Amino acid sequence: MQLAFLGTGSAFSLERYNGAVVVEGRFLLDAGAPVLPHMHRLGLDPGRIEAVLLTHFHGDHLLGLPSFLLYRAFHPTGGQLPVLGPPGVRERIEQLCRLAWSDDWPDARDRAGVTYQEAEAEGEVAENRYQTVKLEHGQMDCRGYRLHLEGRVLAYAGDTTASPPLERLVEGADIAITEATAPAESSVHTSWSEAEALAARHPSTRFIFNHVHSGQLDRAATDLRIMDV
Ligand SMILES: [Zn+2]
Ligand SMILES: [Zn+2]
Repeated sequence: MQLAFLGTGSAFSLERYNGAVVVEGRFLLDAGAPVLPHMHRLGLDPGRIEAVLLTHFHGDHLLGLPSFLLYRAFHPTGGQLPVLGPPGVRERIEQLCRLAWSDDWPDARDRAGVTYQEAEAEGEVAENRYQTVKLEHGQMDCRGYRLHLEGRVLAYAGDTTASPPLERLVEGADIAITEATAPAESSVHTSWSEAEALAARHPSTRFIFNHVHSGQLDRAATDLRIMDV
C-alpha cells in the first residue's frame, strides 16, 4: 500500500506542514498541507484522487482543500469527487469554499463533481468499504476511518486522545496512522509515550505516527515522503 505523506505536523508546528496523506494515489486523508504542490513534488496526480476523507473540521486538516477542489474544477475528470466527513460536512466545506472563492464556488463545485457524504458507522466511498469510529478530541467531532483496501485494513485517526475509541479504531488493522503530537500529555491529543504504548498493545499492526509538533520519534512519518507498506 502506498502512503504519501504531504504533511505530518500539528496545527502550529514550526517544523512540519499540516497533515495530509494520500493512499494508493486515490484517497486524500485530511487536507492540511499545501496539497497541490506537495502532490506534484511526490509525483502524484491530483486528478486521480477519487475521494477526500476528512476526520474533523480543524484548520490544520482542512485548509488545503479549497485550492485542491478548484484545481479539480479546472481539470474535471467527468466523475464525482465525494468529500466524506463528520456530520455537517456539506455546510462546513461549502462555507470554507464560499469564503475562498466567493461567487465562483457553486459553478466550480459542479465542474469538479464535488459531492458530500456524512461518514456513517459503515459505508462505501469510491467503491471501497470503510468504517468509522467517533474519537475523543475535545468538543470537536472527529471520526477515525478504517479503510478496506485490497484485503487489508488501514486505520487513520486524525486527532484524538489515547482513549478506548482509538483502541477500537486500530484493533486488528494491518496499518495504523495515529497521532503523536508531543511528549507532554494533553486533554485533546495523544502524547509520544501514549502513542508508543498504543503500538505496543497492538504488535501485529504497523504503526506510523503523524501530527508531530516538533522533534522526531521512532515510527514517525516525515513530510514529503512516500512509504510502501
Ligand atoms: Zn490537528
Ligand atoms: Zn484537531
